[in-house]
Amino acid sequence: MASKDYYSILGVARNASQDEIKKSYRKLAMKYHPDRNPGDKAAEAQFKSINEAYEVLGDPQKRSLFDSGGFTEGFEHGSAGQAGSPFGDLFADVFSEFFGGGGRGGPHPQQGEHILRQVELSFEEAALGREISIKLSRWESCSPCSGTGAKNGKAVRVCSTCRGTGYIRIQQGFFAVQRACSACGGEGRVVTETCTNCSGRGRVSVERTITRTIPAGVSSGVRVRINGEGHAGAYGGPSGDLYIDITVKPHPFFSREGDDLVVEKKISFLQAIFGDDVEIPTLGSPLPLKLDAGTQPGSVRRFRGKGLANPQTRQVGDLVVRISVEIPTKLTREQREILEKYAAVSGDGGTHGTGSSQDGGGIFSKVKSIFE
Ligand SMILES: [Zn+2]
Ligand SMILES: [Zn+2]
Repeated sequence: MASKDYYSILGVARNASQDEIKKSYRKLAMKYHPDRNPGDKAAEAQFKSINEAYEVLGDPQKRSLFDSGGFTEGFEHGSAGQAGSPFGDLFADVFSEFFGGGGRGGPHPQQGEHILRQVELSFEEAALGREISIKLSRWESCSPCSGTGAKNGKAVRVCSTCRGTGYIRIQQGFFAVQRACSACGGEGRVVTETCTNCSGRGRVSVERTITRTIPAGVSSGVRVRINGEGHAGAYGGPSGDLYIDITVKPHPFFSREGDDLVVEKKISFLQAIFGDDVEIPTLGSPLPLKLDAGTQPGSVRRFRGKGLANPQTRQVGDLVVRISVEIPTKLTREQREILEKYAAVSGDGGTHGTGSSQDGGGIFSKVKSIFE
């Protein structure tokens, strides 16, 4: 499902306009429509995938979700509760102009729109997970009229023009064309007195605060879906979903590589030479690390399972410690003399200047070169 390329199914470019998509869909759907290919299983399968593709690409909101990738499964529930047509509302909208025999009429369920929000988390919040509250205003079904838009939900009569079917059929050459009934706007019913609470819309705007726990280990670019927390559907259709795009702020010294938590540990050149017991910062309490004598700059130490959780795989990465060695930038006269002695003893001082302590080009750059 997730790997289907709806664009190639409809034979359009990824940057095609909604109009081009609709045109191409109509052309293909007419070609493969079961009425024109009776008993042809391949055409029927083709017809189904064309409709599936158009159900997504024909809706700019679903299309942008599809383009962003990874959430195609979120489109599947739209067909639940659809009466009459297995292909959803877009199908009906386009096909009502071309084909007869659909048999659907009257108000049909429509899924509510999705809502998209951005949330920025600190590095620690993303790593450890946290509860977030999102304030939003969304359409909800009007309760006094049960979403009908009619006073008390009862001030409705069946449309006499279309006798409640919502459409009118006209024979036009090859096709039986069916058009939405203009008397009732295709709803099959006429409201005789509108609900004052929602002014007949059937939905009211409501402020809500949605609280959810974002799982530990989310990273930037992750989109979290909360089912059913979008706008209310119409005529008993399901609510849309709430999508949350996560951005994670960078940390001053931690970074993320895959599921590994990476930290640079700076040690002095003396700690590198003699070894030492040091502490490594983590997102919890620090961990002790024993440095061996002769620890090399750039060496890496790993703490298994002390990294970041992966909410998808439920695995936990490692804490990766990269050792860097700090070279002093200023030496006292005494320190310099000691290091020059070291250089002489180790036979390593041949290139450094002897007397001039000004430019630091001698022993100091030697020490530096050892560590770089
Ligand atoms: Zn009507
Ligand atoms: Zn109402």
